[in-house]
Amino acid sequence: MTMWFDETFEDRVRLGFRVESYVYRSKSEFQAIDIFDTQPFGRTLALDSVYQTSVQDEYFYHEMLVHPALIGAPSIRKVLVIGGGDGGSVREVLRYPEVQQCTMVELDRQVVKACQDHLEEMNVPWDDPRLTLRFEDGNSFIANNQEKYDVIVVDGPDPVGPAEVLYTSKFYAACRDHLNPEGVFTAQVEAPQLMAAEFARIVKTLRAEFPMAVPYFGPVPLYVCGSWSYCYATLGQPVYEPNEERVAHIEPHSRYWNLDIQRAAFAQSNHVRRLLG
Ligand code: SAM
Repeated sequence: MTMWFDETFEDRVRLGFRVESYVYRSKSEFQAIDIFDTQPFGRTLALDSVYQTSVQDEYFYHEMLVHPALIGAPSIRKVLVIGGGDGGSVREVLRYPEVQQCTMVELDRQVVKACQDHLEEMNVPWDDPRLTLRFEDGNSFIANNQEKYDVIVVDGPDPVGPAEVLYTSKFYAACRDHLNPEGVFTAQVEAPQLMAAEFARIVKTLRAEFPMAVPYFGPVPLYVCGSWSYCYATLGQPVYEPNEERVAHIEPHSRYWNLDIQRAAFAQSNHVRRLLG
């Protein structure tokens, strides 16, 4: 019998993949977790029936969420990742030898365990001594801690349920206040076409809380609509120029990100310019 897995978006779009076999199906305290092998994308993770990552295309998203921040930030010694349960973002962060501490704050311990057991192909260095895992809500973590970071990366799912708080003014203001003076913040900010209103709302919220916030763009084949966006924010400095030594270290490993992509990613279509006013 042919099996399909469908993600439905707002009852107006359905994106389905043929499932070769299910590998893991469970319901955690927070969400339904499905891991399955698909024809086009290999092993794939969905949370509450929304595709999160797949071993065949995860690099598009994780490289674009992480490298624009780390490639140019003046210091990258201390990095905080909020969300990111599959580990792809911390894998990219830990590629930089200058990173001394990387803390990942993930709500759902069960997502991490399922990914450690079944998404080995993502090659996440879970036992890197620089990595600390914390299992709690990212908003409470940042509200209750006084530490400052060189880079903060928010790798959350769509803004619904427990992730909704990761897209609020209050949370963004707390992230701003936990950055060192030359720090950099990046976050995923949804699909600029299919989710245009949400994209514009999130970027405007970030602009209201950070002295400098600009969106940037890249493809993610797995996600509904395929085109995705991120936001880069600082305490006032424009996007930092890439550090040449870091570029030379990262480019041999990266599959999508490179210097040309980095520069092009910040170009805005007229659609985006009009949306953002
Ligand atoms: N790349 C993905 C996307 O854009 O669809 C996101 C991947 S990652 C799997 C998202 C993670 O954020 C999930 O593992 C989820 O458990 C976690 N998460 C959701 N809400 C959270 C919160 N309030 N604090 C920390 N982590 C959260």
